[in-house]
Amino acid sequence: MYKLLMVKYGELGLKGKNKSLFINKLVKNIQRSLADLPERQVTSTWGRILIPVYGEGDMADTLERVKRVFGIYSISPALEVEKDMEAIGAGAVQVLKDALPQGGSFKIETRRSDKTFPLTSPEISQQVAAFVFRNVGEEYVAQMQNPDKIIQVEVRNEGAYIYGENIPGAKGMPVGCGGKAVVMLSGGIDSPVAGWMAMKRGVTVEGVHFHSYPFTSERAKEKVIDLCKEWSKWSGNKIILHVVYFTNIQKAIRANCPEEYGITIMRRMMFRLAERIAHQRGALAIYTGESVGQVASQTLESMYTINNVTNMPVLRPLVGMDKEEIMEIARKIDTYDISIRPYEDCCTIFLPPHPKIRPRLEAAKEMEAKLDIEGLIDEALEKTEILYLQQED
Ligand code: ATP
Ligand code: MG
Repeated sequence: MYKLLMVKYGELGLKGKNKSLFINKLVKNIQRSLADLPERQVTSTWGRILIPVYGEGDMADTLERVKRVFGIYSISPALEVEKDMEAIGAGAVQVLKDALPQGGSFKIETRRSDKTFPLTSPEISQQVAAFVFRNVGEEYVAQMQNPDKIIQVEVRNEGAYIYGENIPGAKGMPVGCGGKAVVMLSGGIDSPVAGWMAMKRGVTVEGVHFHSYPFTSERAKEKVIDLCKEWSKWSGNKIILHVVYFTNIQKAIRANCPEEYGITIMRRMMFRLAERIAHQRGALAIYTGESVGQVASQTLESMYTINNVTNMPVLRPLVGMDKEEIMEIARKIDTYDISIRPYEDCCTIFLPPHPKIRPRLEAAKEMEAKLDIEGLIDEALEKTEILYLQQED
C-alpha cells in the first residue's frame, strides 16, 4: 500500500545556508523521533522529505511521531510508482478509491520536477484523468471546481508519487535551529504551553522547577517530570530538568520579609536562579508562562519589579492570551490532564491572603536586604538535581 510519507516543509523566507541548516536539522529530528521504530533512511530531495514506511501499523506509528516534529508544513501518505503513465494512472485509481470509496468528484493535479519526462504537467493530468475514467465506475466524475478530492501527482527525478491527503504538520521551526533557553516550569497549565511555544520556534528547552520539599510533595515534582516527558515528544530528544531546592529560600523569605511582598521577593529569587542556570547551560533566554493580568504577580507593576533582577531576555509567549486559549493548546499538546492534578506548588503554599498587586521596586529591594541572597542562591544550586527525561512508550 502506501510505502512512504512525503513531508512538505515551511521554507518561507529561508535562503542559502540557512535553508540547508533548516533541512538538515529537520531530517535529523525526524530520524531521531523514529529512533525506536523499525530502522529506515529518511531522505531529503528538492523541497520534500521522504520517509519510508513498512505496512499499516508502522504507517500509523510513524505518522503519529512525524506530526509532532516542528518545521513541517504537511504530511502525505504517498504511493511511489515507476515513471510510466500506466503505473501512474493505476496509482491514481488506487488513491481515489481509498479516499472516496463510495464515489465522488475528483481532479488530478500534477507537478513535474523531472524536466526530462516527455509530458508536461497539464498533459500528465489529462492522461491520468483519462486513465482513471477508463478504470473506475460512473460513480466517479471529474470536476475542476471544488472537487471532493484532489489527487496529486509528482513526477520527480527519483520516481513518481501519488497522494490524496495533506495532513497538517506541527509548523514552526525544527528544534535546535533557534538556540537554547530555560523554561520556568511550575506544574500549572501555563508554563508547559510556554515551553511548547519555545520549541515550536526551534528553541531547545531545559526546564527549571523550584521545589519546596517537604512543603510541597513528591507528587508535585512527579507532575513536572511527566510534563517534561510530554515535551520530549515534541523535541524528539531527552529533556533536561533542573529541580531546584527552594525550601530554605522560602523559609528565609517568610522569616525576614513582610508577608505582602512574599510572592514578589520569591519570584525575584526564581529569576535570579533561572538566570544562573541559564548561564551554566549556555542558554540565552528565560521563558515563563506569565500572561498580563492573570494573577497578582502578573500585573505590569509586578513584572517590572520582578524582572529587574536579570538582564537576560525574559520571554512570555502567552502574554496576550486568555486562559481559555491557553487551555485549548494545553489540551492539544497533552499537558492539560497532567497540569490539573491537584498537588500544590511552592507558589500556592505560601500565598499570602493579600499579595501586593502593585509592588514597588525600591520597597522590594529594601526588604530583601535582610536576606543573604548569594548564600541562598549557592545553596539552592548546590542541592539542585538534574534529570534527563524521555517518554518511555
Ligand atoms: P502556571 O500555570 O505556569 O503555573 P500561573 O498562572 O500559575 O502559571 P504564577 O504562579 O504567577 O502563574 O507563575 C508564573 C510563572 O512563573 C509560571 O508560568 C512559571 O513560568 C513560573 N513559575 C511559577 N512557579 C514556579 C515553580 N515552582 N517552578 C518553576 N517556575 C515557576
Ligand atoms: Mg502556577
